[in-house]
Amino acid sequence: MWAPYIWKNGELCEWEKAQVHVLSHALHYGTSIFEGLRAYEIGENACVLRPREHFERMLFSCRVARAPSPLDVDQWIEATAATLRANEHRAAYIRPLVYRGLGETLGLDGRSGPIETIVATVPWATYFGADALERGIDAQVSSWRRPGAGAVSALAKIGGHYAEAQMVLAEAKDNGFAEGIMLDQMGHVTEGSGQNIFLVIGDELITPGLGDSILEGVTRNCIRTIAADLGITVREATTPRDLLYKADEIFFTGTAVEVCPVRSVDRIIVGEGRMGPVTRAIQQMFFGIVTGALPDKWGWLEPVCIE
Ligand code: PMP
Repeated sequence: MWAPYIWKNGELCEWEKAQVHVLSHALHYGTSIFEGLRAYEIGENACVLRPREHFERMLFSCRVARAPSPLDVDQWIEATAATLRANEHRAAYIRPLVYRGLGETLGLDGRSGPIETIVATVPWATYFGADALERGIDAQVSSWRRPGAGAVSALAKIGGHYAEAQMVLAEAKDNGFAEGIMLDQMGHVTEGSGQNIFLVIGDELITPGLGDSILEGVTRNCIRTIAADLGITVREATTPRDLLYKADEIFFTGTAVEVCPVRSVDRIIVGEGRMGPVTRAIQQMFFGIVTGALPDKWGWLEPVCIE
């Protein structure tokens, strides 16, 4: 058991009772829409990082998937707060999910299936292990290409799309890397299996743009704001693969991975093989804000009091 309670379809439910039927549509066809948020512990509070942006993206993903969310943004935020309180979680990873449940037939058309909703909060520390945030991780360019822009909606967080992301990650791990970087059909860099990517080249920070088959990460947006505040020029650009081998620094960003340096790609060392000064400055400001050491000057944290 990771937590005593899971919020399901409007009420808090004991862990053991949060079940789905084996013929649920989502289990067979990937008809689920999800988000990943983090709460950081500051004093007595669980401070949720940019919940509004996450739930707005979730409602967008639901629209793309034609699976309307029964909850609006405020209701999702309330459900999240209720789950954090029930589990007495101040620091947690938060997983809201909308999915098609057991319908009248096993047919592909999911519209007959009921829409179910959950919010889970679980303890989850660093994604790549304790020292990765300092030492960086080794990544490979995946042999799997991201489906083209017209094939899947990269901007929507739909469960079925993550079948590919899992193959990318499993391949990378089997090959001895921590993560895989997906190229698009043209060979341009998109992102990691579950995180956005930034490259430092000279005095610029470069990241693939919204038309380059990426998810528009909430952390990516934080990092752009932080970089601008630090006087670093950020440029969205179509990024050829070979820039990965030219970059002075590379880092991943995401709710789970936070701001994590990449120290090598395909066994080619990035920069000096350790966290570079731009990554460090950005990472320090990010963690300064979410730990409460620096003022939350952009109002990113929504506190939930846990008694
Ligand atoms: N890309 C993908 C494919 C992801 O799954 C995630 C995680 N949600 C991200 C990027 C990073 O997004 P965020 O910063 O909003 O967590």
